[in-house]
Amino acid sequence: MDYYALPVAKLIEELSKLPGIGRKTAQRLAFYILEMDPLEVEKLAASIKEAKEKIHYCKICCNLTDDDICNICKDEKRDRSVICVLEGPKDVVAMEKTREYKGLYHVLHGVISPMENIGPNEIKIKELLNRLQDGVVKEVILATNPTVEGEATALYISKILKPLGIKITRIAHGIPVGGDLEYFDEVTLSKAIENRREM
Ligand SMILES: [Zn+2]
Repeated sequence: MDYYALPVAKLIEELSKLPGIGRKTAQRLAFYILEMDPLEVEKLAASIKEAKEKIHYCKICCNLTDDDICNICKDEKRDRSVICVLEGPKDVVAMEKTREYKGLYHVLHGVISPMENIGPNEIKIKELLNRLQDGVVKEVILATNPTVEGEATALYISKILKPLGIKITRIAHGIPVGGDLEYFDEVTLSKAIENRREM
């Protein structure tokens, strides 16, 4: 680390904490930022700060929003009888891109993972249960990723929802095991939701 002046070392350190950014990429980004116009750097820093300050969870579906309730939950044209349960906000974007799905969402913000000490209470399962009490929802589609943790989470949720008498479906595996929803093309994802099965 002695190769760099301290502020540069700190910048590289912070950038390398981002997902997919290794040491080398962090260094490249740091040097790029240092060559940028000061006004552009200001804009970049401000946009990070502003997004972090203004964005929070939708009171209904836990998706990210700058309002109390997100645009999807507000949309009167959406089918309120079906909720698609997803791991993260980026999965909502992936699902919306298919234009296939017209129901509502529920974002868990993670999956159950005993290895990482993440239990059912650490993700938004309680919030999902609360949404199902009024009888409006007729179907819950479990669309967690087809990973070990994603499957285990889907199974856990299906078990606790069973007594409610709501139809529970799981997206089909037209998609590879170990995959991540955000990387699938629209067709694969459309097929997966079309071929969902009851759990
Ligand atoms: Zn919402």
